Amino acid sequence: MLGIGRHKDSGPVSVKTGASLRDEQQASSIILNAIEDGVMLIDDKGVIDLFNPGATKLTGWPSNEARKLDYRSVIKLVNGKGAAYTAEQDPIQQVFKDQSATIRDNKAFLVTRGNKQVPVSLSVSPLLDQNKKLTGIVTIFRDVTQERTEEKQRTEFISTASHEMRTPVAAIEGYLALALNDRVSTVDNRARDYLEKAHESTQHLGKLFQDLLTSAKAEDGRLISHPILVDMGSYLEKLVNDLKFAADKKGLVVEFDLGSNKVIDATASNKAGQKVVMPLYYVLVDPDRIREVITNLFDNAVKYTDQGKITIGLSGDDQVVQMYIKDTGVGVPPEDIPHLFQKFYRVDNSATRTIGGTGLGLYIGRKIVELYQGRIWVESELGKGSTFYINLPRLSTERAEAERQREAAQSAMSPINSLTTPVLQ
Ligand code: ADP
Repeated sequence: MLGIGRHKDSGPVSVKTGASLRDEQQASSIILNAIEDGVMLIDDKGVIDLFNPGATKLTGWPSNEARKLDYRSVIKLVNGKGAAYTAEQDPIQQVFKDQSATIRDNKAFLVTRGNKQVPVSLSVSPLLDQNKKLTGIVTIFRDVTQERTEEKQRTEFISTASHEMRTPVAAIEGYLALALNDRVSTVDNRARDYLEKAHESTQHLGKLFQDLLTSAKAEDGRLISHPILVDMGSYLEKLVNDLKFAADKKGLVVEFDLGSNKVIDATASNKAGQKVVMPLYYVLVDPDRIREVITNLFDNAVKYTDQGKITIGLSGDDQVVQMYIKDTGVGVPPEDIPHLFQKFYRVDNSATRTIGGTGLGLYIGRKIVELYQGRIWVESELGKGSTFYINLPRLSTERAEAERQREAAQSAMSPINSLTTPVLQ
């Protein structure tokens, strides 16, 4: 085909090209007709040009009826709760807007012509001409009912199994603690050593089951969350004061960097009752959930740092409240950074191998932060230390005030509720 220009007048070449073009078109049409996946081509106005039999099977729209229609009358997407996708969520709209990259969505449900909701995975790619102008969009969609059912069964199994196993593990842990308690039991030194090891392993197992249960819940949207108005400054200060014991024990210094360009030693600030004037960083989160995330980040900072300090920072702008936890520890190798927030991911090197953990903490942390439309990420240098950042949407003073009044009115209406803390598992 590259020779067409050079052999413009040569009959046989152009005939051959025409034939091969026809062959190609035929081959494409055979493939499009045979594959099970739905393939839809729309033009730059969103009008359907091509709708293969796979797309018909999935949507219930015959190709001849779907073609020439605006794609939005045919491809209706909703989320897991049945709410229609907004323009920002619609991957086709996103490609119209962004025009540069393929966008994938694995969470959508497609509403068929007969009003049935089918779980689908979508891949939406822009078609660009030589001048990088959008000429159309190809959407490939696949029925993922079976994958989602299997995934649900897996999550349910993990959830039930870890729930059931937590109880006997807690009992073993309790009895081992009794055996190690001088006032209740008498054991010789060798036995004490064995029992301590068994107690430690049981605690690890209990944590693993708890993390498995939380991650299973996070996956199928059952994570309990009661968001309330939280002033992140005072919240963080109090939380870290509760946590810093572990750092003290290891001889690590703990500092606050409270967005006022002023770094204060946490101990000094407590002892001297020193006050720092700083802006109020309001967010709408469940404080118990955010505590899980920060506790894990802080515990990790202690775990993966042999000497130096841990700094807890808070700052922000109109839109965002940013927290960070910085350490002077072992750091994370660059190749591990993209995987760090995946389930069960642990860095495997000589600096971390001997340190116990489940590899679920950061995964759960990401799920929780995403629950509040936030973002969590890490910057790290091997051997120098790591900084974990959390961004959460900031509430304006007006919205915070409105929220405070709403919460006050609610607790006045149900005084019992205001006395009970929500049960979190
Ligand atoms: P866990 O610490 O229980 O293994 P996490 O999900 O909390 O699980 O962390 C995943 C992995 O990320 C850890 O195993 C460790 O390799 C790495 N990591 C986390 N925090 C730090 C840190 N502050 N410094 C160095 N590595 C870290």
